[in-house]
Amino acid sequence: MTTIVHDRSADRSWVDNAVRLIEADARRSADTHLLRFPLGEWARDAGIDLYLKDETTHITGSLKHRLARSLFLYSLCNGWVREGTTVIEASSGSTAVSEAYFAKLLGLPFVAVMTKSTSPAKVALIEREGGTCHFVDRADEVYTEAARLADERGGHYMDQFTHAECATDWRGNNNIAESIFSQLSLEEHPEPAWIVVGAGTGGTSATIGRYIRYRRHATRLCVVDPENSSFLPGYVAGDCTVQTGRSSRIEGIGRPRVEPSFIPEIVDRMVGVPDAGSIAAARIASSMLGRRVGGSTGTNLWGAFGVIAEMLQAGRSGSVVTLLADDGDRYLDTYFDDAWVTSSGFDLIPPTLTVERFLADGSWRE
Ligand SMILES: *Cc1c(COP(=O)(O)O)cnc(C)c1O
Repeated sequence: MTTIVHDRSADRSWVDNAVRLIEADARRSADTHLLRFPLGEWARDAGIDLYLKDETTHITGSLKHRLARSLFLYSLCNGWVREGTTVIEASSGSTAVSEAYFAKLLGLPFVAVMTKSTSPAKVALIEREGGTCHFVDRADEVYTEAARLADERGGHYMDQFTHAECATDWRGNNNIAESIFSQLSLEEHPEPAWIVVGAGTGGTSATIGRYIRYRRHATRLCVVDPENSSFLPGYVAGDCTVQTGRSSRIEGIGRPRVEPSFIPEIVDRMVGVPDAGSIAAARIASSMLGRRVGGSTGTNLWGAFGVIAEMLQAGRSGSVVTLLADDGDRYLDTYFDDAWVTSSGFDLIPPTLTVERFLADGSWRE
């Protein structure tokens, strides 16, 4: 008999340094702001406050910076990503932009698998970070193509839609929920009545839902969902196999299938938001804030306005928090372009009136 030793410990120093590089990057970065959204005098009188967690101030410009950091740490600590591993992701854009940044930080090759229709601006952002874009025809092809490519190149398929919910430390470690609650601590209503978010991977809603249960907050979690998405019909039917097979027109949220990272059991309420409502709300909020916000922020605000109108009618004071997930300047050719809006068949007049009435007196009429 001979003792067999097969030692891989030489790998460890590279991984150790990679984790340090990601942690050092976080150490150099500031937390994102929690902005107050200016509601009217009626809201002041009723003691209702609305806050926007501004996720655009991350280095890579969106909420996906948190996800990309978590996915890289998770993959490194699981031993899935090592020195020289090609990292591959299926992404409609923002996740790939943020992952390309972290891949560059670690000196790893990065390939984003995306549909041909992805905006040239996002492709340029990925390529600027040294990433490569690999195109497919249809949105539902990205998953299998990313897995195939990883197999072919001996790389690692990051798979945000599967791993988003477990890659983030939901008990704390400065996740988005812990950050929101600590930033609210000196406000009039430090425990929000509602937190309203959209779902793309579902990771953000999973983190927030688990955190509020773990900390035993009375806060309720509302998930807003755009047209064509599977999350709302799946939630209503109690069936994760529901598939619309259709792409959402609100970038970043809404999926053709119920993604594995979406955890319906911890969502207190879901609201289906018409796409015209999302776009109208994004445009109005942009002019109020003096800066453009993305389409999914419009979806979030439409949902937040609805719960606030409900609180007002019930005579309840309190706070509501939602997310400013990405910058509207990424959508100058779409949501902020009148010609695109018209040719896409949207009539923004009715939802604009709904939002304007709400902002004037807190009532909600569609
Ligand atoms: C990804 C994304 C979301 C949703 O976040 P998840 O944690 O993936 O559910 C919302 N808005 C934008 C702009 C996004 O890119």
